[in-house]
Amino acid sequence: MSKKSINIITLGCSKNLVDSEHLLARFRANGFTLKFGDNEPADVVIINTCGFILDAKEESINTIFDFVNAKEQGLVEKLYVMGCLSERYAGELAKEIPEVDRFFGKFDLDAILHELNIEKQKTLPTERVLTTPSHYAYLKISEGCDRSCAFCAIPQFTGKHKSVPVDVLVEEATKLAGKGVKELLLISQELTYYGIDLYGERKLPELINRLSEIEGIEWIRLHYAYPAGFPMDLLAVIRDNPKVCKYLDIPLQHISSRVLKNMRRNIDEGQTRELVNKIRKEIPGIALRTTMLVGYPGETEEDFNKLVDFIREAKFDRLGVFPYSHEEGTWGYKKFRDAIPQKQKQERADYLMEVQQLISEELTAQKVGRTLKVLIDRVEGDYYIGRTEFDSPEVDGEVLIEKKVPLEIGKFYNVKIIGSDVFDLYGSMEHAPL
Ligand code: SF4
Repeated sequence: MSKKSINIITLGCSKNLVDSEHLLARFRANGFTLKFGDNEPADVVIINTCGFILDAKEESINTIFDFVNAKEQGLVEKLYVMGCLSERYAGELAKEIPEVDRFFGKFDLDAILHELNIEKQKTLPTERVLTTPSHYAYLKISEGCDRSCAFCAIPQFTGKHKSVPVDVLVEEATKLAGKGVKELLLISQELTYYGIDLYGERKLPELINRLSEIEGIEWIRLHYAYPAGFPMDLLAVIRDNPKVCKYLDIPLQHISSRVLKNMRRNIDEGQTRELVNKIRKEIPGIALRTTMLVGYPGETEEDFNKLVDFIREAKFDRLGVFPYSHEEGTWGYKKFRDAIPQKQKQERADYLMEVQQLISEELTAQKVGRTLKVLIDRVEGDYYIGRTEFDSPEVDGEVLIEKKVPLEIGKFYNVKIIGSDVFDLYGSMEHAPL
C-alpha cells in the first residue's frame, strides 16, 4: 500500500477524463493520497495529454514543461505522461523531454499500474473517482473510430472502434447512480456506431433504454453523433424516453458538398439538410449542438458563404467552430496543401461565431416566460448556476437563479425563466410550480 500522493492532470476531452477517473479509483484503492487541481504538485504526477490538433498539442507540451519545472524544484518526485499526445509522439517526446520519467500510450493503464507497483485486481474496471460535480458523469461507451474523415488524426492514435459491453456500462452507471449521479453524458469518438464491432449491429437504442432503467438516473445526454448513415430509430428513443434529454450533439463539419466530399464525410449538402429537418420534425423542440470546421484546403469564399447562410438558416442552438489544423498522417495532409493562411482561417471562424451569437441571443430569448426543469450545478456569487436539458456542462449556456430561496446543488427544480442574454438564461423560483 503506497503512502504517496498522486495527481492526474487531465487535458483534452471528456474521454480522457473518464480514463483518468478509472485510474484514480485504482490509485485510491491502493492507498495513494489523491490530489486534484491543474497546478497541484504531488509525489507522483501523471499528465493525461491531448494530441488532437495544434492548440491542444501545445497546451499538453506546456503543461509537461510546467511540471518538469516543479520536479526540478523538488515538488514532484515522479513525472509521467500518458494519453493521445504520447500515444502519437512517444519517441520524439522521450528524446526532447528526458526529465519525464516515462511516456505511456493512451491505453497503457496496466503499464502505469505496474510502474507504480499497484495490484491491478484490487479494483473493478467499473470503479471511478469522479472529478466532475457528483451529480453528473461522463460515460465513455466506446473508444477509437472506424471512420476516415480526411482532417482527423484521432483514429491514428485511438485505433479502431471498440465498444464497451452493455452490461459493463450498466454496471458502471449503476455504481455512479449509487454515488448520486443523476445525469449521464454518453461520449465516444463516434456515438452512433456503438455496438457494431461487438454485436454486429447498432446497439445504442438498447443501451440507452437499459441505462434509463437505472434508479437515480434522470437525464441521459448524447454527444458525438455521426451524421452519415444516421440511425433513424434513435430519434424515437430520444423523443419517447422521458429520461433522454431533448438534446443532440452532432458535428456536421461543413455544408458545401464539395468540401464535405474532400473531407471524406460520406454525406452531402442535401442529405445534411434532410437529416437536420428530419431530427427536428421527429423531435420538436430538440436542442441541436454542432461543430463546423473552416479553412479546410480548397474551401472557397463561396463555400464559406454557403456555410454562413446555412448557419443563419438552420439556427443551431449550440455551435463550436474550429479552424482547420493540418495534421500529419491524415488523408487531407497527404492530399492537400494547407493553402488557406491561419489568419484567414481564424477570421472565418470568428465571423461564424459572431453570426451564431445573434442566433443564440434570439433562441435564448424565446425561452423567457417558460418554466423549465433545471439541475443546479453550483453557487457563484449571488446566484445558483444550473442547466436545463438543452445545456451540456462546460460547453453550453447556463441558468442563473438569484439566491432568494435556498436550493441544493445536484437537485432538480422547476424554474421560471425571466430573462436571457447571448448564451445564458435568468431564472426565478417565484411563480415556479413546485
Ligand atoms: S468520426 Fe471522423 S472526426 Fe470523428 S473521430 Fe472519427 S474520424 Fe475523427
